[in-house]
Amino acid sequence: MSSKRKISIYGATGSIGQSTKDVILANPELFDVYVVTAQNNVKALADAAIQLNAKIAIIGNDQKLSELSSLLNGYDIEVFSGADAINESAYEKVDLIMAAIMGFAGLRPIMNAVEKGIDIAVANKEPLVAAGEMIMQRARETGSKILPVDSEHNAVFQVFEKDNINAVEKIILTASGGPFLSKTIDDVYNASIDQALKHPNWTMGQKISIDSATMMNKALEIIEARYLFDLPPEQIDVVIHPQSIIHSMVLYNDGSVLCQMGASDMRTPIASALGWPNRINSGGDKLDVQKLSQLEFQKPDFDRFPALALAYRALEEGAAACITLNAANEVAVESYLSGEIKFGQIIELNAYALETIYPDIANSSLKGLEDIENMDKTVRLSVREYIKTQI
Ligand code: NAD
Ligand code: MG
Repeated sequence: MSSKRKISIYGATGSIGQSTKDVILANPELFDVYVVTAQNNVKALADAAIQLNAKIAIIGNDQKLSELSSLLNGYDIEVFSGADAINESAYEKVDLIMAAIMGFAGLRPIMNAVEKGIDIAVANKEPLVAAGEMIMQRARETGSKILPVDSEHNAVFQVFEKDNINAVEKIILTASGGPFLSKTIDDVYNASIDQALKHPNWTMGQKISIDSATMMNKALEIIEARYLFDLPPEQIDVVIHPQSIIHSMVLYNDGSVLCQMGASDMRTPIASALGWPNRINSGGDKLDVQKLSQLEFQKPDFDRFPALALAYRALEEGAAACITLNAANEVAVESYLSGEIKFGQIIELNAYALETIYPDIANSSLKGLEDIENMDKTVRLSVREYIKTQI
């Protein structure tokens, strides 16, 4: 009998999905790949399915099913298409899934896997922002382990002493500051897509790259940390650390600050999550500490980075405000990338959504997944309407 862990990869063609593929290929004796999914990139999906010897490949876009079938003709790999097929496949019994879809769209597969008590390596932060409480609560009930992959949260996870939770004073999330660290808000208001996509330390998908430029990425990560580690917002701090060497820290009441360091290579947190509680070879870049010349830290200026204040504001208000902020930001980033709005308007839209859209939905019922999905939809419609009529 195989002692390999059976794993499915949601979002296999993305930046995290491809790094996950690398980590699995570096450890062929440890994993059996079951499902791989993607939204549009049928060629990359077929390649990943073949390289990983997957059993099932699912393309979100139905119109690409026949192309996927012909690319996989002659291989023993079943093919399917559509969002429902992706979501339902997460009920299949595997040991572990990698949640690496971009955005709120990844919530269903995560929840379906949680329902089955499957362990989840979570890179996909938006579902944790919009539904963190529900995901963590159900995971506790079903026994599914939530293993953070986002580099900051993975770092905290590695040095977080669960048995000494009362001794934890603060989680300190590091932020590189993104491509516009030394610019003012006015400097970047009209920033081009190319400028905004140029992250100094990481190569990532488009949405998270824009989020890093607006600092919304760190805002989402503050909310993500609140749910993953069950700490109140006042125990979550952010520090600017331009080198991205220390991936985050935990301050304990005895004065110890524990941190995790590593190269800016997502294969490290991915390997940490996939191997947990053991350690496995990431196949990635290793940090050479003798070559480090300086590590800098600065307190973030909330006037320069209003996104951070929006995160704390949303957390103070609760789940509906977090759903609102996430949905508004997804629409705003999409609109920026399609040339409808300016860079500076992303944060303005997010602030508008919290200020004006949120109060109208604040008291709606949020009992289950459908309620959360409906609220996400309502906010998206309102933000799109506002862009169409007011911008
Ligand atoms: P990406 O855009 O490179 O890849 C996204 C993947 O999701 C692709 O496989 C795509 O086909 C799939 N996808 C996109 N929309 C979908 C939809 N509607 N339904 C189903 N599948 C869909 O993104 P990424 O950079 O790999 O990021 C993925 C997630 O991981 C995001 O939530 C991001 O915030 C998070 N994350 C990424 C990094 C990073 O270094 N890239 C670091 C930390 C966290
Ligand atoms: Mg991160």
